[in-house]
Amino acid sequence: MFFCSFVLLFFRSFVLLFFCSFVLFCSFLFFFVLFCSFLMNEKRIKQRDVIKQQFTPMLRESSLFQKYKSSYRDAFFDFARHATILSGAYCFLWYFRNSYVNILTVPLIGLLHIKTFIIFHDCGHNAYTPSSRINYALGTLLGVLLVTPFSWNYLHHTHHLTNGNTENKHNFPYNQLIFHTVAQYKQMSRFERLVQKVLVSPFLLVTIWTHLYFIFGQRLLFLAFITVNQESVHIPSFPFIMCEQLVNNVGVAIMSYLLYQYSLLWLSVAIICVWTSIATFTFINQHTFNPPYVVANDKWNIKDSGLLGSSLIQVPLLLKYFFGGIEYHHIHHMNSKIPGYNLQKYHEEVVGDPKWQISVFDDVTVLSIKECFHNLQLKLYDENQNRYVTFSDALK
Ligand SMILES: [Zn+2]
Ligand SMILES: [Zn+2]
Repeated sequence: MFFCSFVLLFFRSFVLLFFCSFVLFCSFLFFFVLFCSFLMNEKRIKQRDVIKQQFTPMLRESSLFQKYKSSYRDAFFDFARHATILSGAYCFLWYFRNSYVNILTVPLIGLLHIKTFIIFHDCGHNAYTPSSRINYALGTLLGVLLVTPFSWNYLHHTHHLTNGNTENKHNFPYNQLIFHTVAQYKQMSRFERLVQKVLVSPFLLVTIWTHLYFIFGQRLLFLAFITVNQESVHIPSFPFIMCEQLVNNVGVAIMSYLLYQYSLLWLSVAIICVWTSIATFTFINQHTFNPPYVVANDKWNIKDSGLLGSSLIQVPLLLKYFFGGIEYHHIHHMNSKIPGYNLQKYHEEVVGDPKWQISVFDDVTVLSIKECFHNLQLKLYDENQNRYVTFSDALK
């Protein structure tokens, strides 16, 4: 009996160790692949850089891009630091799994996963490291931890190509969370208006809807969406997407089994709820504010989509690490190849440089956290006033 208990305890400890080391293992794997990739590509990269330098126009923005684009060194230290903090936090979560300390560890890991998601998102933009292979492998691995298939990034690319463009060729919403104009809303019956209010209510949007979307919707709705919109969205082949979905689903199933074995499954679901709520709250405010950037195709361009169509959220200093730089969304949309870990430095160089008499960032909408909560109420686009408005404003 004692022997059986001992074996069981040993087995459980082994699996726990495996899970807690998973993120650290990714870090070392990342380093190994990075090292091999560096050895193989060093010569080619040098040749390519020489060619690029010869032909790159001497524009300020271009030199800033050269300065703040991804590097192996910065990516490694950023990832290794995050993997270490995250592993430590998961050890705490397990150790205190049956105590009230969960009240602290669950939100903490939820916040840490915002940063994990930003790394995943940078990998999707092929911007986290200079190697597309490492970005893809790392993005796929982190996608398991975040219950998000790598395919998420294909729709996200389309978001970048269409933000604020009402006539975009991808037939994609110019704002993914504004579904109607004031004129359309006024034409609805009372019942339809009530349904709309419930469907896009701020509370449901940043809680139940987003939790369901990340946990289940991405696996089912995403496939349905791309089946219908294969021509309009920016995606690779359907079988390729299916493979990515399969890899993520199998990974999530294995991870869930391990979490269940160690009584961490429900705590992990709570963690998903925390980070998906914060992520959706942030995403709404990155593109839904006044004055809005809503223009026709002939006026739309990627730079304005960043500088006028994406906000800068004033994240409190203590929370800055968790957001991984994504609060500087205006730069991200202007050039998605700048990794999150360099966005703040890029911003500070531009606004702090005396060469810029008038900063190109002067027109960027800066939002306080209080304004962010207010913006959750903006639900319709008023074409006459060129503003986002609340449901009650629409009927005044
Ligand atoms: Zn965006
Ligand atoms: Zn992006």
